[in-house]
Amino acid sequence: METIPAKNMLTRTKNNFWFGTDYNMNIYRGCSHGCIYCDSRSDCYGIDHFDQVRAKENALAILEDNLRRKTLKGVVGTGAMSDPYNPFEKKETLTRQALELFKVHGFGVAIATKSPLVTRDKDLLSAIQKRSPVIVKITITAADDALAKIIEPRAAPSSERFAAIKELSQSGIFAGVLLMPILPFINDTTDNIRKIVELAAKSGADFIYPAFGVTLRDQQRLYFYDQLDEHFPGIKKEYLKHFGNAYSCASPNAKSLWAVFARECQRHGLLYKMPDIVSRYKLEHGSQQLSFLFGDIIP
Ligand code: SF4
Repeated sequence: METIPAKNMLTRTKNNFWFGTDYNMNIYRGCSHGCIYCDSRSDCYGIDHFDQVRAKENALAILEDNLRRKTLKGVVGTGAMSDPYNPFEKKETLTRQALELFKVHGFGVAIATKSPLVTRDKDLLSAIQKRSPVIVKITITAADDALAKIIEPRAAPSSERFAAIKELSQSGIFAGVLLMPILPFINDTTDNIRKIVELAAKSGADFIYPAFGVTLRDQQRLYFYDQLDEHFPGIKKEYLKHFGNAYSCASPNAKSLWAVFARECQRHGLLYKMPDIVSRYKLEHGSQQLSFLFGDIIP
């Protein structure tokens, strides 16, 4: 596969609010899942040909050097701007080899993915989890596979993502659903939210973390609107009417969706607040309860 030069594989997070991560890592650049709402198409990231996945040159040697030099043994987040389990990973195994390095050097990991390929690495995740915190977040935005196919065209069907959560959960790995973005006028229905919570519970998920809206800007907005015209005729008009050029586009149903979501999570015993999720997955590894830092966060 194509490669691009790289100098550094780990960046320090500004604060560790987002799932308690201390570092970020993107071992690949670009993503082939084709999600119509992907924020990484925004101008500020400057990624040409975003849909083409490239590997970073000497990624593993650089990563090992970075890990050796870090005095803080923290949690490394991966999956923010490219999926670490893109189709090339099956052959390239860069993410798997990075996990090996985390294990050897005593780092935890927080993975975000839409691919069931993550289950291939459950042996390593279990091994890391013996010494350091591990969390796997599988993004699911539509309970219905047909709708997921339109908004995330080249990612695995939602049903396969739920099956992956089940497999991880049965292996004792802390795993759950990243329920975002919820797109106004598309997947922001009570029925969709209720079904996702129910399927997550049935799959043995530990948590669900939601955002009842989407952010849009520059190139990303233009791409998204083109996709709306193609797949959801008439919906772009609603976006223009409700949000204009705003970055943050919350579902008009956000309040009622949140109420249903919270009630269903409580009924099924699923964690859904960031401090609780972070506390739970780090608990066995000596972390403090973090709730006092964040208060009661309602996305
Ligand atoms: S999986 Fe993530 S990075 Fe990849 S296209 Fe979808 S939103 Fe973008």
